[in-house]
Amino acid sequence: MLAGMSTASLVTAAAGPVPAPPTVRDVLAAARRLEGLVVRTPALSHPEVDAAAREAGADGASVVVKHENLQHTGAFKVRGALNLLLGFDAEARRRGIVAYSTGNHAQALAYAARHAGTPCTIVMPTDPNPVKERAVRHLGADVVLHGSTFDDARARAGELSEESGARLVGAANEPLLVAGVATATLELLQQAPDLDVLVVPVGGGSGAAAACLVAGALAPGLEVVAVQAAASPAAHDSWRSGDLRTAANTTRAEGLAVGCGFGLTQQVLRERLADFLLVSDGEIAAAQRTFLTAARTVAEGAGAAALAAVLTHPARFAGRRVGVVCSGGNASEAELRRALGV
Ligand SMILES: *Cc1c(COP(=O)(O)O)cnc(C)c1O
Repeated sequence: MLAGMSTASLVTAAAGPVPAPPTVRDVLAAARRLEGLVVRTPALSHPEVDAAAREAGADGASVVVKHENLQHTGAFKVRGALNLLLGFDAEARRRGIVAYSTGNHAQALAYAARHAGTPCTIVMPTDPNPVKERAVRHLGADVVLHGSTFDDARARAGELSEESGARLVGAANEPLLVAGVATATLELLQQAPDLDVLVVPVGGGSGAAAACLVAGALAPGLEVVAVQAAASPAAHDSWRSGDLRTAANTTRAEGLAVGCGFGLTQQVLRERLADFLLVSDGEIAAAQRTFLTAARTVAEGAGAAALAAVLTHPARFAGRRVGVVCSGGNASEAELRRALGV
């Protein structure tokens, strides 16, 4: 057990006992399982993004963007969902899955469920991003709209799971999700082996924990830096305090809108994460604008948060080779208008 963690803090109210994190062996198994099923997304430098970093004050920084916005379903999460569902036995497939999500977790699970031939029910807050809701329905999942936040939807998903026997798939305390998600970092280390620092956006923390696991085993010199929205800082607060914390949860960046820390991901972050930065929603929107104009890249808010961290904490990145995870591209039209101010 980790210093500073009480027994109670290893259990989150909604998610039950915390399973152990995956190992690098699990990540390598996931890479084999996912071969040919996920996009090996490009890792690209964009001279105008480097120029924007320079103008922001990060002299000499060179940025490599890992374009998970070009992944199936428009976000990295499908890696974890496929890894989990492809491991189901016949009985688990018959019972199906239920999940709660503001969007990308749902799309990823719906996509993977269709691929694996298992039923999928998704609970979303009642005012979902229409782009994401439509996508989930098109993928063949049943959508249940309930409550106004992620946390309301979570409670309803738990009830549905108890009623039907379908496996409740959480957002972060899921070792096979983290192992699948970690294949993105594995690819990036092959594509850009000389990075000094990797910046990863955080909601529940699976992406950042995955990056820490892979870097810890295969790239000991690589710093992993997490970034969260200042308006939804639960993972940040949990990491800084050493306890699982809940916090205000008002960011507009849906992938980052999570109100509590999770035991599994926090345990990994505590062991390996170099730093945890916060960015405002305005700074995220500015980074979305930079992605659009300097890299011709559509990033949703969460997908732009890592770049926002580089642009708003430039001294930390000056002179370094910086990997930036563009984690998703599922921006609604309204969101893009807001980012561009039109
Ligand atoms: C879910 C999500 C995140 C946050 O990932 P976690 O693994 O929950 O920390 C970041 N960006 C996008 C686009 C997401 O969908």
